[in-house]
Amino acid sequence: MPELPEVETIRRSLLPLVQGAVIDGVQVYLAKAVKPAPDEFEAGLAGRQITAIERRGKYLLFQLDSGQRLAIHLRMAGSLVWQSGTPSLAKHTTLVLSFQDGNSLHFVDPRKFGTAVLFPPAAPPAGLTALGLEPLNTAKEELMAVLEEAAARRSGPVKGLLLDQRVLAGLGNIYADEVLFAAGISPTRPAREVTRAEWEKIYESIVRILNKAVAYRGTSQRDYVDGRGEAGEFQHHLKVYGRKKETCLECGEPLVYARVAGRGTHYCPTCQK
Ligand SMILES: [Zn+2]
Repeated sequence: MPELPEVETIRRSLLPLVQGAVIDGVQVYLAKAVKPAPDEFEAGLAGRQITAIERRGKYLLFQLDSGQRLAIHLRMAGSLVWQSGTPSLAKHTTLVLSFQDGNSLHFVDPRKFGTAVLFPPAAPPAGLTALGLEPLNTAKEELMAVLEEAAARRSGPVKGLLLDQRVLAGLGNIYADEVLFAAGISPTRPAREVTRAEWEKIYESIVRILNKAVAYRGTSQRDYVDGRGEAGEFQHHLKVYGRKKETCLECGEPLVYARVAGRGTHYCPTCQK
């Protein structure tokens, strides 16, 4: 699933291509992917200019000159790719926005869980309003306080807390595993037993790894590509994620792959306590 670094990379790659573009055609190929229903969705977008693209957690937020916003969430396997000139329709395309300049933006989603929601600023969708802090735009003290406070209320493993979008917005399975490895904390540790010094290590790892992953334009292990259809490079820098059955790069012992917080989890039982 695209996580913060991938969604941020898509945002940065699309911004120069679509900022200022005027939508003159809307094709919905999967009605359940859009809100409101296709007729109203199309009417709300046609003729509108895209003035900016923001990101919140794993959501892309397209600002329109009407004041409305389009929130796109790629979920498991969605991609959002710009095409120049006459569009070619890929398999699993759920939505196409065509622009007056002859170019187009394609939402392709083999798993069909992705969503595109058009909404007025006063009535954002529930998924957006429930989001927690942005890990890269929040002061350390505030983020630490929220993590510790959330941990005190929770009996589950620390990994589950890092994945909880209502606490931190944007971390998913890849970066939760990488962060916990870098911090030397086992993903199975009960969140409430993590000490302040360890939260500090987790905080520093979150900021360092997310920034590095953004710099390398995300992780392309499966289907992720940016807005130009280009792969990222951070898969070459992963320490544990996706290295099932391999050995730890730090200590040489076999890595463990197990289900933690409901997700397939990679970690080193020797380096992570
Ligand atoms: Zn190790």
